[in-house]
Amino acid sequence: MHNIVLFGPPGAGKGTQSQKLIAKYNLVHLSTGDLLRAQIAEGTELGLKAKKLMDEGLLVPDEVVIGMIGSALATNTQASGFIFDGFPRTTAQAESLDRLLARHHTTVACMIALEVGEEELVKRLLERGKTSGRPDDQDETKIRRRVTVYNTETAQVASYYAAQHKFHALNGIGEIETIFQQISALIDQHKAAQAEAPAAATNEVKA
Ligand code: AMP
Repeated sequence: MHNIVLFGPPGAGKGTQSQKLIAKYNLVHLSTGDLLRAQIAEGTELGLKAKKLMDEGLLVPDEVVIGMIGSALATNTQASGFIFDGFPRTTAQAESLDRLLARHHTTVACMIALEVGEEELVKRLLERGKTSGRPDDQDETKIRRRVTVYNTETAQVASYYAAQHKFHALNGIGEIETIFQQISALIDQHKAAQAEAPAAATNEVKA
C-alpha cells in the first residue's frame, strides 16, 4: 500500500493535483473537506455542526475528522493506497492517522507540501469562490482566517513528518502539469525505495 499526504494551505492546489494523482497511481482520494461537505449536503447532525465552523474558516474538532478517516479506511480495505488531502491538519490528527494505518499494517510513505504565498492563495480562492458555491471561498476575511489557521495550527504537522524523514516541499506556483510531474517524481522515488526495502518503509528518499 502506498499512502501519500498532500499538504499545503487552502488554495495550494491539493484537490487539483489529487485528481491527477488518483488517475495515475490508482489511489483512493480522502479529502476531509469533501467528506464534511457531503455530510452538510446530506443534512446530518455532524454536517450541521461542522458547517458553522467551516463557514467561519475554523477547524472542526479532531475527533470528528479522525472518525471519518477511520470509517473511510475501514470501508476501502482493497485500496492500493490513499491520498490524504486536507488531513492531517493537527499533530493529534497525524498521530491518529499513524495509529489507524498501523491497524491496516501500513504507514504514510511521504508528505508532499505545496507552498504558495498568502496573496496568491487569496486570489485563487476568491476566483474559485465564483463557481465553487463554497461560502468559505467567497469572503476575503474568511479566506485570510483559513490561511492564518493553517499557519498557526496546521503548518506544524510538517515537522511531524520531517522528524520521520518523510517531508518534501514543492513550489505550488507554476503550471499544473509541471507540478504534477514533480509530485510524480517524488512518489516514484518512494515507490522504488519501498520496492527495494519494504521493511524500511521508504524513509530515506531524498527530495
Ligand atoms: P478544505 O476543503 O480542505 O479546504 O476544508 C474546508 C474546511 O473543512 C476547513 O476550513 C475546516 O473547517 C474543515 N476541515 C477539513 N479538513 C479538516 C481537518 N482535517 N481538520 C479540521 N477541520 C477540517
